[in-house]
Amino acid sequence: MLVEMSAQEIRWLVSARQHISLLEKRRTTMIVSRVRLVAALFAALTPLWIMVDIAAFPREVWLPLVLARVAATIVFGMITLLAIRMHTMTDAYRVLMMLFAVPTAFFLFAYQHLAHFQLNNIQQAFATLYTFLPFVMLAGLSIFPLTLLEYFASISPLLLMQLIAGIVRLPPTDDWATFAASFWMMLLIAGVAVLAGVSQLAFIIVLVREAIRDHMTGCFSRQSGEELLELQLVNSLRNDTPLTVAFIDLDHFKQINDRFGHEAGDAALVSATAAIHKLLRLGDMFVRWGGEEFLLILPNTTSAMAQVALQRVRRAGLGLRPDGAPVTASMGIAERIQDDIDDWRVLVEKADARMYGAKQFGRDRIVGP
Ligand code: GH3
Ligand code: MG
Ligand code: MG
Repeated sequence: MLVEMSAQEIRWLVSARQHISLLEKRRTTMIVSRVRLVAALFAALTPLWIMVDIAAFPREVWLPLVLARVAATIVFGMITLLAIRMHTMTDAYRVLMMLFAVPTAFFLFAYQHLAHFQLNNIQQAFATLYTFLPFVMLAGLSIFPLTLLEYFASISPLLLMQLIAGIVRLPPTDDWATFAASFWMMLLIAGVAVLAGVSQLAFIIVLVREAIRDHMTGCFSRQSGEELLELQLVNSLRNDTPLTVAFIDLDHFKQINDRFGHEAGDAALVSATAAIHKLLRLGDMFVRWGGEEFLLILPNTTSAMAQVALQRVRRAGLGLRPDGAPVTASMGIAERIQDDIDDWRVLVEKADARMYGAKQFGRDRIVGP
């Protein structure tokens, strides 16, 4: 999968700093929903072990453990409820940290608590089960689509905790070889978890890439177009620069489908968009807004400059219909400053209305402010 990824996408695997908002949204949803799932599962499973603790240990050993279990269950339940309202990446980090803080605290508590007692062999076997908790947590990390840096940040404290636990009190067998072996085991599990998690992230990145662009025409999809508009409008307002949008609707397109079939319609769409793509400047954005309707987003461009650019497009032509007649389009232009509009939806509506005007005036023309 790595081979198919661009340099930027590989950077996205390493760090979340430059993630585009669509990717961030997908990742947030996935992390939060999985946190909820795990928290709910642990809220149900943690109290089940209470019976085992009571059966295995004397009262002074099990009572604090049971209280800790009740506390952990309550916090897991709270996380399940809290996560319902989490929608940003910061929220996602927060619930993820809470989710892992609970077993960490529980493990540290149980570990030092059990160390105070002289246990017989069978009790020792049950006490050993508590030392598996860090392994479970490490393996659990694999279900989250995290970046390499995020994995580093979450795994290193777990490994450190295990080291400290090992140094403070040797594991039940009291020998360093066993301790080293279990630490090595943790490293292996961590490696597998990172591999699993990062490949999930890679999968999301590929899905997002496919959602960004429309397959057939190579234009931006409607969804990413809306995000681009939002971003460009903020930029334009902040820097007080012009922002033009042009609504482009191909003329009598239905006729092509009706007379020559859908395939011919598709071919005409592809050649028309290729012709427009060829004339765009770096920084211009071309969006497939609907079937044969497109939106050009032209940052730093006045409506007069946009008229010039679109006339150039019309002169170069949008390709030919199957019967040899040229494909034409009706275009409407709106500009933020000139039209005094500071909402991108209204700006698009304005351009759409002018495009409709162009249709009524006889098609194959540009209507501006
Ligand atoms: P007008 O000049 O008024 O815009 O006429 P029109 O026929 O282009 O307008 P209308 O919006 O009624 O029809 C658009 C047609 O475009 C309808 C639909 O069948 C066709 N169309 C939309 N998307 C695609 C596509 O992806 N492929 C093909 N082949 N046709 C499409
Ligand atoms: Mg049309
Ligand atoms: Mg249309």
